[in-house]
Amino acid sequence: MTWVPPRPNVGFEPTPQQKVNLKFPCPCCGRLIFKKPPGSKIACEICYWIDDASQLRWPTLANGMNFVTLMTAQRNYGLHGACESHFAKNVRQPGPNEYLDNGFRPIDPAIDFFEDPVATARSPWPQDPTLLFYWRPTFWLRPQTQNAPQYRQPPPGYVPPPPPGYAPPPGYVPPPPPGYAPPPGYVPPPGYVPPPPPGYVPPPPQNPYPQPPPPGYVPPPPNYPPTQR
Ligand SMILES: [Zn+2]
Repeated sequence: MTWVPPRPNVGFEPTPQQKVNLKFPCPCCGRLIFKKPPGSKIACEICYWIDDASQLRWPTLANGMNFVTLMTAQRNYGLHGACESHFAKNVRQPGPNEYLDNGFRPIDPAIDFFEDPVATARSPWPQDPTLLFYWRPTFWLRPQTQNAPQYRQPPPGYVPPPPPGYAPPPGYVPPPPPGYAPPPGYVPPPGYVPPPPPGYVPPPPQNPYPQPPPPGYVPPPPNYPPTQR
């Protein structure tokens, strides 16, 4: 039977047996190399990225445990084999058991969503730091990712909210919500004409000249007067 590692939580400390089996991916090179969950502050031997949970949560943060952002580090690893080019002398090739984490890929700003590091600096963290791995299906911001503008489709009948400061024109009465019925005894204001029900087709206009045409009358062509195009 295959041993299945438990889902680690914040403050998770693996047992000696788990330490043999349990590996966490480096978010820069994607290799399963760390023995502790994100935030261990240990340098990856394959790319020299230091395991900084903040720089994983906010990949545009520089000057954390790593001088460069995670996005820059990933690009540097692709170019130089290390998260910063001058670390190339410190790194080594991945070992035979240091697999790429399933589905790992560098950050793609077109499809990946992350929080604004300024706005969310003091926001709560996920209970389980491995939910910060953005390439996994368990990524904690997956719903926001799927709601990113490039994916967002408004539902049928969606009316966008008015822009800030918008005021409707004088006399504007908003339409009633669907299913609205006026209270009993309500009398509409004079001159009010209720809108036709959905699907209403007005009757054809009656011929205002029921008399027979005068002698010599030639009816106008069907499209007369010609419509302007
Ligand atoms: Zn690495």
